[in-house]
Amino acid sequence: MPLTIHQFACLSDNYGFLIRDEASGKTACIDTPDAGAILRELDDLGWELDMILNTHWHPDHAGGNADIKAMTGCTIVGPPEVTRIAPLDREVAGGDVVELGETRFQVIESGGHTLGHIAFYDPTDRVAFVGDTLFALGCGRLFEGTPEQMWDSLQRLAALPDDTRVYCAHEYTASNARFALSVDDGAALKTRAEAIFAARERDEWTVPTTIGLEKATNPFLRAPALANRVGATGQPDALAFAAVRAAKDNFKG
Ligand code: ZN
Ligand code: FE
Repeated sequence: MPLTIHQFACLSDNYGFLIRDEASGKTACIDTPDAGAILRELDDLGWELDMILNTHWHPDHAGGNADIKAMTGCTIVGPPEVTRIAPLDREVAGGDVVELGETRFQVIESGGHTLGHIAFYDPTDRVAFVGDTLFALGCGRLFEGTPEQMWDSLQRLAALPDDTRVYCAHEYTASNARFALSVDDGAALKTRAEAIFAARERDEWTVPTTIGLEKATNPFLRAPALANRVGATGQPDALAFAAVRAAKDNFKG
């Protein structure tokens, strides 16, 4: 297990991730939701930061770039859209590889929540950092992209191995589960939702999840199978997805 992942909660419902390639000691931070919290966590761990990996430009993902770079001198890697609000040293896009010591992250294009959103996948450790694209039982809102773009992005993530651990950027799972139960009465979802509600009662995290669990229970990945529940019977998969997304946007649970 050459990659160590340190997860912590910050802001109202974000997760921060500090990762270290154990072979080299190289350290990176996935997104920068809260510069102060990230710098404190680095201090507690005794880690020196080499790199920031940004998934998209939103302030709760890139807003800490400038302060963290000023304090650590790290290199910032991310999609070009990050420069809308924050410094960036290296622009990457789908198909690129980012090396952190001996760990090689594949950049996966995952636009839809924002146009330029990317995810980082480490096939050796079977770990994916997916920002605001895929959540436990949910997916990101379509602020910039089309349903077709987001559906394609989700399909690229769903194609990863089932045991891939998926690190989402927010703890939205209990509210996602309430919505999921409104469009899917399958046994797998019911079992998972009960476990989620119980875990959240105990203040436990529901992230990371896995690709296999999401494929079995996430209503957005299961949109084609749920088309009849959202008025999209016989529609192309991307339109079934669009209907599930619209139902969630209007859900008052
Ligand atoms: Zn976002
Ligand atoms: Fe976010």
